Amino acid sequence: MDDQKTKTFFGHPRGLATLFFTEFWERFSYYGMRAILIYYMYTQVTDGGLGFSQSTATAIMSIYGSLVYMSGVIGGWAADRVLGPRRTIFYGGFLIMCGHIVLALPFGATALFVSMALIILGTGFLKPNVSNVVGDLYDTQDKRRDAGFSIFYMGINLGAFIAPFVVSGVQGAANSFHAGFAVAAFGMAAGLIVYVITGKTYLKDAGKQIPNPLSKEETGKLIWYALAIVAGIGLLIALIAFATGNFSINTVILAVTILGVVIPLAYFVTMARSKKTTSDERSRLYAYVPLFLIAVLFWMIEEQGSTTLAIFAAERTQLDVFGHTLNPANFQSLNPVFIIILSPVFAWIWTKLGDRQPSTPKKFALGLFFAGLSFVIMMFPGIINGNTTTLVSPLWLVASFFICIVGEMCISPVGLSATTKLAPAAFSSQTMSLWFLSDAMAQAFNAQATQFFSADTEVVYFAITGFVAIAFAILLYLFSPLLKKYMRGID
Ligand code: GLU
Ligand code: ASP
Repeated sequence: MDDQKTKTFFGHPRGLATLFFTEFWERFSYYGMRAILIYYMYTQVTDGGLGFSQSTATAIMSIYGSLVYMSGVIGGWAADRVLGPRRTIFYGGFLIMCGHIVLALPFGATALFVSMALIILGTGFLKPNVSNVVGDLYDTQDKRRDAGFSIFYMGINLGAFIAPFVVSGVQGAANSFHAGFAVAAFGMAAGLIVYVITGKTYLKDAGKQIPNPLSKEETGKLIWYALAIVAGIGLLIALIAFATGNFSINTVILAVTILGVVIPLAYFVTMARSKKTTSDERSRLYAYVPLFLIAVLFWMIEEQGSTTLAIFAAERTQLDVFGHTLNPANFQSLNPVFIIILSPVFAWIWTKLGDRQPSTPKKFALGLFFAGLSFVIMMFPGIINGNTTTLVSPLWLVASFFICIVGEMCISPVGLSATTKLAPAAFSSQTMSLWFLSDAMAQAFNAQATQFFSADTEVVYFAITGFVAIAFAILLYLFSPLLKKYMRGID
């Protein structure tokens, strides 16, 4: 352990370098794939796409995103009880790589769904655990901990920034979506190599223990639990099919939406009722619930960067600028690039404000306010032109992404730290998964909401979503002193 701490990566344990680059490549593959996936789904079959409708494509993007974060619950559990984080991360990366390889093969919709299953499970195995091992690199008292997470967060966004250019560049040059997906597969392979080779020396034993191994008796029951869960999901799908009178992709979409609500709810009820939760912790949990819901509204807007705004980029935006034709997938780099630019600015602002900085609930309110604003401004292109057919300047999207990221700076890093502080100690190893459930729930709602988006509804869609978010932000701001009281000493 000591040796790990003496040789450093920007003044941090060198294991951080391993995790930084593993996550960099994993996010490279994820966001690179997503940058072209929506276009792959709704491009005509004759042009190399799948020929889905735009609303089906946005709904699939959303349930996909939702499941990717929901499966963190399984990944967290597997690491905690069966495999230990280190091995879980490896298996996760391997599954993700296989998922991208499948999508790189020309097997149409079947390959897409197989690939989704692999990447959903793989990301659930990898993502929450890689973040948890970052925490393991530091003693609890280590002052470098928060800074370590910020560096790690930069790795995420660096991967997310570069990937859309590389993946869409290769896709364009080869005139094949599959070539783009192959680049994502290479990215994850690179991540795995870095993880295995440098992990041996830099990570040493971090994440090797199984924190709470299953007992013999529990192992015996495992198969029954797994079967019960599969049967439960099957039953849910069957019930929906029965109630709606048909079975289609929408049945699965609706099932995921329901799970997106049920799983976080079950988490909260279990935590609140647990005997291991103290009364202070229960009070904090009550304060956490509204914050969680505000985060859900925030992610609903943020995650639409890759769905409704991606459609806006392809269909409604002038792509010829300075004699150069932009690939609409390039707009996906705006979110991460603004994060990279603004992270140091916000770190400076918060340090400068010191004790005078806004409380966590107020930061959440600000975050949601900016997200709402980023959608409100998107109603203007349609209003100013009096139609939603004239192509508009790409600066609208640039402005919208920028404003949303100002909000993300107030919610994303703050939320993660608030989760670790407000979740009951007995559930601490699951806090990463808990936080990702806010994004999962958001995208589960998006699977329904984004289906209303089209050129015809654009102005109303952006206006309603944006103003509703702003209204909730104001409400939260007004109630923030009350929430602070429930937070019992945590700010
Ligand atoms: N965009 C970030 C990532 O991909 C954060 C997602 C989240 O916290 O929900 O890691
Ligand atoms: N902002 C996202 C995250 O922090 C990245 C993205 O949406 O491109 O990773």
